[in-house]
Amino acid sequence: MALENDSELREFIRKAALLNAVGHDGKAQAGALVGKILGEKTELRSRVKELSGVINAVVNEVNSLSPTEQKAIVEANWPETQKKHEAEEKKLPSLPNADKYKQIVTRFSPNPDCVLHLGSARAILLSHEYARIYNGKFILRFEDTDPKIKRPSLKFYDSIRQDLKWLGCKVDEEYIQSDRLPIYYEYTEKLIGCGHAYICECPSEEFRKKTLAMQACPCRDLPAKEHLERWHRMLSGGYTEGQVVVRVKTDLENPNPAVRDWPALRIIDTKKFPHPRVGSKYIVWPLYNLAAGLDDHLMGMTHIIRGKEHYTNMVRQKYMYQYLGWEYPEAIHYGRLKITGADLSKSKIVAGIKAGTYTGFDDPRLGTFAALRKRGITPEAIKKMIIDVGIKPNDVTLSWENLYAYNRKILDTTSSRYFFVAEPVELKVTQMPKRSFHVLLPLQPDKPGQYREYSINHEENDQLSFWVSKKDAETMEPEKVFRLMELFNVKIESKNDSFVSAKFASESYEDVRKIKVQLIQWIPEGTEFPSQVVMPDASVTDGFSEADCKKLKPDVIIQFERFGFVRVNEVGEKMVTYYAHK
Ligand SMILES: [Zn+2]
Repeated sequence: MALENDSELREFIRKAALLNAVGHDGKAQAGALVGKILGEKTELRSRVKELSGVINAVVNEVNSLSPTEQKAIVEANWPETQKKHEAEEKKLPSLPNADKYKQIVTRFSPNPDCVLHLGSARAILLSHEYARIYNGKFILRFEDTDPKIKRPSLKFYDSIRQDLKWLGCKVDEEYIQSDRLPIYYEYTEKLIGCGHAYICECPSEEFRKKTLAMQACPCRDLPAKEHLERWHRMLSGGYTEGQVVVRVKTDLENPNPAVRDWPALRIIDTKKFPHPRVGSKYIVWPLYNLAAGLDDHLMGMTHIIRGKEHYTNMVRQKYMYQYLGWEYPEAIHYGRLKITGADLSKSKIVAGIKAGTYTGFDDPRLGTFAALRKRGITPEAIKKMIIDVGIKPNDVTLSWENLYAYNRKILDTTSSRYFFVAEPVELKVTQMPKRSFHVLLPLQPDKPGQYREYSINHEENDQLSFWVSKKDAETMEPEKVFRLMELFNVKIESKNDSFVSAKFASESYEDVRKIKVQLIQWIPEGTEFPSQVVMPDASVTDGFSEADCKKLKPDVIIQFERFGFVRVNEVGEKMVTYYAHK
């Protein structure tokens, strides 16, 4: 019986296509179904061509339904599969006490002293995603109050804004802490006036000995009036860098010595270390916990989503909140996310660029967003991975392969395919039986009807010359048969390092399918487009891509068949691309 008349088979395919469509935004993928059906109906393995025809017809039928219609059919007929599918789709858990607040407010607060990298993805994407889920507000706050050690740089404010935009995160409000020093001074003065903060003149080593012994330093219990005088002296330049520290009082017996009377502001010689935005206008600069702690309340933060290394900071800041009569926001501390093989240390990145080891912040060896973007890693893949990892407090280790798998899933159905031959070797085919061949190479398995179209003709002497990749040429031995993909089959006659000679064998794929010949990419000599692929280790692979690649625009991500996904960086006399992954 012809497969197209087998109604039972048709129904079987229809179910698989509908389930596939529901899992892929309403578009079932014929390519994925062929493998699935063959896996379950092994007797059809000898009838792939016929089966593909039926699958294509059913997929077209299913894809013409709206996603809502597809879902309704699946739910009505196979409800059990539907529940399973939803359980597989990971969702973020609800925020704690979300209904306590009128509007959910979250933030991402980087120091603009470097570009962003994958290590920040969790803080950014989770905070933004929650703000969107609850129809809340997402704040970007630049924490740039260290003009000396973690010195901000103007170019990074902008690169951070661009990275967030690329990641699809819409910023509802933006603040820059170096604009807010008068606010920090106002609250510091209030804390000092009420006896909750003091100016410590002790050398740091002596202070440390005292705190370790859970004892007050000689400054701590002086009257508030004395401390207000010291504070004004501090602001007016009566002390120099390193002489004094403003401290917020805590329980001196707090089990963690690092919490005890934590430092809140200090002097920085901004004549020597001017701030890139406000120069030497201020010499008293807040430390992390004072500025971030005050801002979180003043900006109406309801939920702080950050790494668990910040847990102690919460303990410190809660003292200040108590003195000011404020309620601490809900804090969620997630575990560390490690990517094996990715160097995510800011200082190492900066040092590597200075030393010339890396070409820039977008060097393909780096885990910066700039580098990932250049390589064709999509923001959707990063987001999907981060949301799947979720907000668990346990540490998670992922590999580049994990990220690639998310990316591949997205690119597989969206990127067009082209031929690329790396390190080209000439292949001459003789004994051609006809003058011309017309080939249609599908751009994408899921876009039926879209092709790259080539006419291959020879003038005389019944021979054609192609470029094939060195890797394929290396597997060629006399008498072995290969198929030039979608074109014809050839039998190898002889070869040396830079040249392979073959003769035409036959045209139909059916002739060689049973003997499982290798299908290889080819480019007719004379139509080649010189192309380079910058690999993840920054090495460059030279080769030729097919003529249609001349029409590509920078930024598009394509698949070089049997080579990998690449992002087009420039198209001119030659094409330069960056390698994403297999
Ligand atoms: Zn002291």
